[in-house]
Amino acid sequence: MSSLATCQRYLPITLLLGLLFTGCSPEQTRYDTRFLAFGTLMDLTIVGVGSDLAAHAAQVLESDFAEMHRSWHAWDPGPLGYVNKMLKTGEQFSAPPAVLPLIRLGQTLSLSSEGLFNPAIGELIDAWGFHSNDPSGSRPPPTETIAHLVQQNPNMQDIEIDGLLLRGKNPALKLDFGAFGKGFGIDLAVTRLKEMGISNAIVNAGGDLRAIGRRETGEPWRIAIRHPDGDGILGSLEIAGDASVFTSGNYERQFTWEGKRYHHIIDPRSGYPAQGTRSVTVIHHDSTTADAAATALFVAGPDNWYRIARRMGIHYVLLISENGELQMNPEMQTRVKLVDEASWKIRLSPALNPEP
Ligand code: ADP
Ligand code: MG
Repeated sequence: MSSLATCQRYLPITLLLGLLFTGCSPEQTRYDTRFLAFGTLMDLTIVGVGSDLAAHAAQVLESDFAEMHRSWHAWDPGPLGYVNKMLKTGEQFSAPPAVLPLIRLGQTLSLSSEGLFNPAIGELIDAWGFHSNDPSGSRPPPTETIAHLVQQNPNMQDIEIDGLLLRGKNPALKLDFGAFGKGFGIDLAVTRLKEMGISNAIVNAGGDLRAIGRRETGEPWRIAIRHPDGDGILGSLEIAGDASVFTSGNYERQFTWEGKRYHHIIDPRSGYPAQGTRSVTVIHHDSTTADAAATALFVAGPDNWYRIARRMGIHYVLLISENGELQMNPEMQTRVKLVDEASWKIRLSPALNPEP
């Protein structure tokens, strides 16, 4: 039974009219759909508009995501492939419009992460075999290859931007937007939805998401946080308004070689998969920053995530270390409800930057 019907049964009409403006409002319509984007299933929920508009919005988003996927694909030919080819020549060239904003944002985010988030290490990602649809059959690259790439130290500041023109200053540059392209895409999708007059929605790419507005009942959205095992739920939190929740985990893409597991989040300082972390969840306003920060804090690990989170202006972090400790800032603790709190050894950090 809807909440409006409940109101009507118990209340005289004058009171009911008052309540329409104070919370006992009718349940809104909800539209759910699912499509493939960035190689993951994208779940889209839209609340409070007619099904025609919701279905149209879903179509627009699906085709936007397909275009983004093509433009930013790290190993299929396309605009990013062209940029990568040109960056290596050291010559100046015109930036394809789809790629330029990500290069600018990548420079800023990389700088504030002290280079731990580094979308210029595509050569390393490639050497590790993660530029393939199925990396499960890969093996570690030769140590000399890794050492050489680390020593060349490709980074975002090696890209000179002059208006719309780009120039690469390091032959080892190869861009890979894998750590924040999905976040940037979700931000664009939310902008699109808002332009279409949609103010309650969730755009969810396999657990990484941005939520705006509220649920059909008028209550906040309830969001699940993925368990570091890759399966199941670690906890939940509520979002009312506009926020993104992103998790980076070592379970996402990986292979096993001679009994040892190698995952896809690479520490640019060593050239090897980052050690010490199982997963990091970040809540932030925009998805681009949340996505980049989840990757950067994963690399920073249990001893350094706090410093990098402060530098990146992040307000909420939860990290599970390889030794099974759950670390978070006190502001995160007030927001997250853990499914099995007693099973975790919890360590609280000092307060992070308070939300404005
Ligand atoms: P996922 O999107 O799988 O949840 P991430 O957002 O952490 O995970 O992105 C991981 C991807 O980013 C890798 O597959 C690789 O393409 C790229 N990557 C790996 N290490 C780094 C790093 N230190 N900085 C930037 N990008 C990275
Ligand atoms: Mg990321």
